[in-house]
Amino acid sequence: MPSEFDIIEQYFTRNYSDNTSVILGIGDDAAITSIPAGMQQVIAIDTLVENVHFKKDTSAYDIAWKSLAVNLSDLAAMGATPSWFTLALTLPDVSATWLSDFSKGLFTLAEQYKISLIGGDTTRGPLTISVQVAGFVPQGKALLRSGAKPGDHIYVTGNIGDGCAGLAVQQAGAIDSDDVYLLNRLQQPIPRVAFGQSLIGMANACIDVSDGLLADLSHMLVASGVGASLDLDKMPLSDACNHKSEALKLSRLALAQGGDDYELCFTVPENKLSMLDCNSNELGISITQVGVIEAEIGLRCYENHNLLDPGKTGYLHF
Ligand code: ADP
Ligand code: MG
Repeated sequence: MPSEFDIIEQYFTRNYSDNTSVILGIGDDAAITSIPAGMQQVIAIDTLVENVHFKKDTSAYDIAWKSLAVNLSDLAAMGATPSWFTLALTLPDVSATWLSDFSKGLFTLAEQYKISLIGGDTTRGPLTISVQVAGFVPQGKALLRSGAKPGDHIYVTGNIGDGCAGLAVQQAGAIDSDDVYLLNRLQQPIPRVAFGQSLIGMANACIDVSDGLLADLSHMLVASGVGASLDLDKMPLSDACNHKSEALKLSRLALAQGGDDYELCFTVPENKLSMLDCNSNELGISITQVGVIEAEIGLRCYENHNLLDPGKTGYLHF
């Protein structure tokens, strides 16, 4: 039976000598980091609990991936460049296969962003994973939820609704390639880190879509003290989601209310729209305008040019 220290050494210790902000990583009582000159530190933490955030039979690779990805998505929403992360892992028991698979998922994603695991904690108990990520933004430049202005165009990256459809597929059982695509989108979301960074100096406000487009856009509107019109017909859906939504009984409204998309929702003033198109092309990230910010508070949601009844949907109430 490996000890806690064997586990840390074998599965979680990696060389990260090229990360200049890490002064001291795993091995001492605490890690030491520095903040580059002219930058501010941005920190996020998220916890995933078995049977709450993921099903019991989810692979260790996917659990690790998602634990890190959801945090990177929060940093992306701030426009931050990720630098390091810590991991608090609570395990019911020690399985070498599980740990090896978990470690692979974790470092596959970490290496894509060149971020270092600098410390953590390992305990025994019900399977729970907390990941904390830190990154940097130029002084005073972070993208906030609170900056949206009337007249701003509201955009989303990628597609909305795959997470929600993926969850429905998970319950129904995957049959074809569309199902597999949607499940993968649920379990291995791709945080929009580079695109978030590119929005600095361009977007007035930004949030990542984790609770559903309607809920997260509403959070932004409240923080900014403005309202918006949202056109559900413009909401971009993946081909797989389009093919499957009827069979899964998911309306556009349901897809806008579902969570786990990990796309960015952001607002851009008219005079910066041409810059935005350049960024989208350069980074190969599709973006779609789904609405406009208005002075009148509240979220007005349209489908087929009809204002949806807030009484039926509940989404109007912040
Ligand atoms: P202490 O008892 O002083 O809190 P620990 O024995 O918990 O220290 O941890 C020893 C070292 O291993 C520390 O540097 C800690 O950050 C690191 N560590 C512990 N668990 C993990 C983990 N799951 N992932 C990464 N580093 C870890
Ligand atoms: Mg100690």
